[in-house]
Formats: sequence, C-alpha cells, structure tokens
Amino acid sequence: MSKIKVKHPIVEMDGDEMTRIIWTMIKERLILPYLDVDLKYFDLGVTKRDETDDKITIEAAEAIKEYGVGVKCATITPDADRVKEYSLKKAWKSPNGTIRGILDGTVFRKPITTKNILPAVRSWKKPIIIGRHAYGDLYKSQEYLVPGPGKAELTFTPKGSTDSVRLTINDFEGAGIIMGIHNTDKSIRSFAKACVNYAVSEKVNLWFGAKDTISKTYHAHFKDVFNNEIQNNKDRLEKAGISYRYLLIDDAVAQIMKHEGGILWACKNYDGDVFSDMVAAGFGSLGMMTSVLVSPDGKYEYEAAHGTVKRHFYEHKKGNPTSTNSVASIFAWTGALQKRGELDKTNDVVEFATKLEKAVIGCIESGIMTKDLTHLVTPNIEKYETTEGFINKVAERL
Ligand code: NAP
Ligand code: MG
Repeated sequence: MSKIKVKHPIVEMDGDEMTRIIWTMIKERLILPYLDVDLKYFDLGVTKRDETDDKITIEAAEAIKEYGVGVKCATITPDADRVKEYSLKKAWKSPNGTIRGILDGTVFRKPITTKNILPAVRSWKKPIIIGRHAYGDLYKSQEYLVPGPGKAELTFTPKGSTDSVRLTINDFEGAGIIMGIHNTDKSIRSFAKACVNYAVSEKVNLWFGAKDTISKTYHAHFKDVFNNEIQNNKDRLEKAGISYRYLLIDDAVAQIMKHEGGILWACKNYDGDVFSDMVAAGFGSLGMMTSVLVSPDGKYEYEAAHGTVKRHFYEHKKGNPTSTNSVASIFAWTGALQKRGELDKTNDVVEFATKLEKAVIGCIESGIMTKDLTHLVTPNIEKYETTEGFINKVAERL
C-alpha cells in the first residue's frame, strides 16, 4: 500500500509519562504506517527541557509559527516535587504557557462525543466548544488584605506625566480586602480574532458572555472589542453562515443548559476556567476532551486537554497493565492532520484523519473502550481494553 503524502511539515512535540508511552504507540501504529509526513520533532519531555534550559520549548513554538500546524503530547509542569523526582535545575515554566505566550494564542476545548456516552445534560446533542481568554483578569492581579479603616484608591499615572487619575474603591471603616485586575486591548483583540477564526474553521455559531450591565467599563470594553471584530469580519462570517450573539454571562449559562450544542462559547478568563470544567464533566471524561491553541494569525496547535496521567504511569513502571484512554491524544493528531490537509488543500490527508476518527468512535460505539469509559456508556459494561489493546483495536479497524 502506498502512503498518503502530507505536503508540508507538522511540528511534533513529545511529552511525559503515560502520555509519552501512548504517543509512541499512536505514531507507530496509527500514523506512520499510512502517511508520508515530515514531522519536525521536538522532545518537550521534562528531562530534555531541563537539559536545554527550556530553549527547546521556545524552538518548538517558533517552529509552529513557521509551519503553521503542531501536535503536542501532554507535559509535566514541574513543581517542587517534580524538581526532586527528575533532579531538575529548577521548576521550569509550563510549556503550554510558554507556547501560548509566543503564539499569542487562545485555547479552545472541544469534547469528543459518541452515541453511547450520553451527556449529563439531556439537551446537549453536539459538542460545546469553550474558548477561554488566557490572559489577565483574576490571573494577573494584585491583592491586598486591608487591615483596618482607610481609603482604597485606584490610581493610573500616564507615562511621562505626574498627573494621576484617582478613583475611590472604598472608604473602609474596618478590615476587608481589595483586588486590582487588568487586561490589555491587544490581548482582548487577539482573543476575539482567534474566536472568529475558530468559529469559521469549525463552522459553528459564536457566543460571547460577560456582565456589562454591572461592569459598565471593564466588561463593556470586552463586549465592544468583540462587536468591533465581528463587524470587521462581517462578510466572512455571513459567507460561512455563522451568527454572533452577545449574552449576559448568567443568561449564557441558562441558555447553554437548554441548548443542543454545536456552538463556540467564548469566555473571559475566569468564566472559561470554571465553565470548561463544567462542560468537560457534562460530556463525560477528561480522556475525551481535546484542546487546540489558535493564534490570531491562524497558527494551530493540537493536544489532549488532560495531563500526563501520572498515576497510570507509576503503575506502568511497576509492570502492571494500565487502561489509559488515548482518544484525546489520537484526536490531537487527527485535528492537526485535518488542519494540515485543509491548509495544503490535500483532501486525501483530511480523509485519512476522518477515517481514523471514525475508527476510534466505531470502537467505542461497539463496546471497545478503556476503563474510564465503561461506567459512562449506556448501558454500562464490565469488559475493558488495556492502553495498548485499545490502540491495537483501533489499528485493526483502520
Ligand atoms: P491528569 O493527567 O489530568 O490525570 C488526572 C486523573 O484523571 C488521572 O489520574 C485519571 O484518573 C484521570 N485521567 C486523565 N486523563 C486520563 C486518560 N487519558 N485516561 C484515563 N484517565 C485519565 O493529571 P495528573 O496526573 O494529576 O497530572 C500529571 C501531570 O500532568 C502534572 O505534572 C501536570 O503538570 C501535567 N499536566 C499537563 C497538561 C498538559 O500538558 N496539557 C495538562 C494538565 C496537567 P484515575 O487516576 O482515577 O484513573
Ligand atoms: Mg478549571
């Protein structure tokens, strides 16, 4: 059988622990036997990051900028325990954070659905994609524990000036708390652009929710930037048949619970943190959630939303069989291949990726799955596959 030629390279980023084991199996059994693809390989395993003083992560991000499409395995974000465990020079920053920063990207999370895994919310029929703004607000704040009576103010001093703008936050009569948060026009604009790009690429309607009735400047500014970006893309959205809807965030939450799905829900940073977990739980398992980073200039990086599944890796190291779900990692590959094929206008590559996805869904729908899914499917089943067994079954079906 001759292999399908992938026209342009894909940036491949290897990772850690159980997902690293899965990664090699997917590549060797589901990808390389069928595709002639130039993979620009970067080992983002924690040991290699340590060896290169994390330069390899930056190189990988630059490569995604150059080639436009990347696929990434889950990686360890080291904390003090990991520094000890792997004898690292220091607790290197999260690779995802580094890549996100370089690509100025927004993360979209999309659940993988099958007929026999029923969402917890009865009305959900199609995936709900969450786009989370990944800069600022609560996540880059200054906080202060107010010890007693006093005046809290918001001040802003324009560059090169001594005239400050001062606003009273509160005249405290006793102890309390204050917090200062911010965002930037550049980041909000990038977020809105990435959401428009992704809605067009996924052919889904776009929602954005905030609380501009209460936050008449901060939240209202997000709404204005979004409206402006929608206006700038009016023709493109109309041509793709995509509608945009601004909702108050509480209304958005209420509507989501009655909606059939098939939309992109753009969320401010905190809302995205909270509601992406709600949506993930509602659709089933972390092992069935993919994630894609989209930059405002249309570069794409695909990965599974879960981590390196440490507990399973420790079992694997002891020589015990594991049953780790590889679906989200496989879909990271198919997402990257579909995008590559779309950009290269090579339909056979898109078709192969779609076939691979169908093989995965077909397995699950016919009762072949890893342990995490056995209690989620209707009816529940007892029998499950090992990590490797599942990938082999997918390969057979392919
Ligand atoms: P995790 O990998 O998300 O796994 C947490 C638990 O969720 C697992 O123990 C397992 O539950 C279940 N789970 C997650 N993915 C699964 C899958 N594919 N199949 C079956 N079960 C799955 O989180 P962690 O083990 O606490 O974190 C390990 C490392 O991942 C950390 O060092 C963290 O820094 C990193 N991380 C990386 C990324 C990324 O690169 N995108 C994201 C998050 C975390 P049971 O134990 O009940 O089976
Ligand atoms: Mg969260």
